[in-house]
Amino acid sequence: MSEVAAIKVEEKLFSNRYLVDAGRPHIRVKPHQTPSRGLLAMTRLCPAGCYAQNESGQVEVSADGCVECGTCRIVTQGTGELEWNYPRGGFGVLYKFG
Ligand code: SF4
Repeated sequence: MSEVAAIKVEEKLFSNRYLVDAGRPHIRVKPHQTPSRGLLAMTRLCPAGCYAQNESGQVEVSADGCVECGTCRIVTQGTGELEWNYPRGGFGVLYKFG
């Protein structure tokens, strides 16, 4: 039986490169008092760790390391809490294979 080396997601994410579009985030969380369950769940679901809850309980996003998987877009669908677009051409994630 062959051995399979365990690889952590963080190690694979580290091989990606990003070109940040400074001042023009492609994902924004709209102002809110209390996040929906879906938006709150994104603090645990986003594979790139882009979401966090602040001290006041609102959820914030820092999309600089976003891998454009679309999970947050689907999970918060219908809540109107997110403004989600792909980054402008030439910006965002650059996948490296290997
Ligand atoms: S698209 Fe994926 S990686 Fe990007 S912020 Fe949403 S869940 Fe995170």
